[in-house]
Amino acid sequence: MDNKQFIAKCEEGLKEHYKRIDDTAYFNQCKVTEAFLQNRIAARHFAGTTGYGYGDEGRDTLGKLYADVFKAEAGIVSPHLLSGTHSLSVALFGLLKGGDTMLCISGMPYDTIRPVIFGENIGSLKDLGVNFECCDLTAQGGFDFEKIGAHLSESIKLVYIQRSRGYELREAFSCAQIGEVCQYLRDSGYNGIIFVDNCYGEFVEKQEPTEVGADICVGSLIKNAGGGLAPTGGYIVGKSQLIEQIGRRFTAPSIGLEVGSYALGYQYFYQGLFMAAHTVAQALKTSFLIGMAMTELGYKNYPAIDKIPYDITRCIQFDSADKMIDFIRGIQYASPVDGFVSCEPWDMPGYDDKIIMAAGTFVSGASIELSADGPVKPPYAAYFQGGLTYEHGKYALERILDKLRK
Ligand SMILES: *Cc1c(COP(=O)(O)O)cnc(C)c1O
Repeated sequence: MDNKQFIAKCEEGLKEHYKRIDDTAYFNQCKVTEAFLQNRIAARHFAGTTGYGYGDEGRDTLGKLYADVFKAEAGIVSPHLLSGTHSLSVALFGLLKGGDTMLCISGMPYDTIRPVIFGENIGSLKDLGVNFECCDLTAQGGFDFEKIGAHLSESIKLVYIQRSRGYELREAFSCAQIGEVCQYLRDSGYNGIIFVDNCYGEFVEKQEPTEVGADICVGSLIKNAGGGLAPTGGYIVGKSQLIEQIGRRFTAPSIGLEVGSYALGYQYFYQGLFMAAHTVAQALKTSFLIGMAMTELGYKNYPAIDKIPYDITRCIQFDSADKMIDFIRGIQYASPVDGFVSCEPWDMPGYDDKIIMAAGTFVSGASIELSADGPVKPPYAAYFQGGLTYEHGKYALERILDKLRK
């Protein structure tokens, strides 16, 4: 069987998944388009402003549009939210003060968030006097309701949930699971903030965490929500009063969300959101195709090929650093930008371990585009995600199969 036949066989087994993915994309495309209509989006919203950006309609309306799509009350969407980490950091610093306790119920948060929470003498939340508590997941990877219940107290001001897996071997959480734990928290008398790191989760399902009980939801625009077109940025959506509070931290306590300009204009932010449901579907199909191929070749990978995924990432386990590096290099060699470059592990800012990352992307580091990365240490897990078009994902697979099937 040549590579093309092998891939055709993989695709044959994925028809049901693809049908479900298309159905979700259609649902989300309708939702997004209706929000555009509701907000009467017009060409003037794409115009840039300069200086203070007073009355910047593009900025304000983009926030409202996101809020509507996420069924939230208000939103901040900005190129000045520099990344997912920065968006999460701004939101947490906006909501927490000295003496408060933050409880993470999805195990240890993502690598770059840890120093934000408990770094020493770097201006972390801990340095401000914010306490941190963490509940590990159950052995099956679910929320540990009993442990969570035991942690709840008056001092807990914010419960933090990370939807996607990060660099862990667990599965992402579905909105149904997030909804269930939100209900449990409220039933237990918890009345603080429920906060979700939604990175990689947007538009994977028909619902978003803000529809099932989360008060605040945060993500990056160079992942799912930017649809592959947003050139940079992040979003924060949720309850108006909390968004206002975060806005005062994002800019300054005296000005909040009244200022902020972006001379280049907002077309790609709007158009990216419009494309996002479709782009996420491309990435999900690519993830399944790679997953099926790797499974056929005997590599352990998650989510299992018969499971419904709740984010766009796929974790693939290799038995050595060399094989992992080979795979990631293969993705880079199939990329439209910097495809002639050979990836090397490096000390990426915000991470403790050496990270190797393939991101031959139009938008630098955008992991909604075909990309793969991971810390080079046992269990040698590569995290694969993205693909602006399914066809490109297929092309990349065909290229790496030469090496993997040898
Ligand atoms: C990508 C990601 C982030 C933020 O990362 P940035 O690279 O700063 O955008 C946070 N949490 C999770 C789970 C992520 O996957």
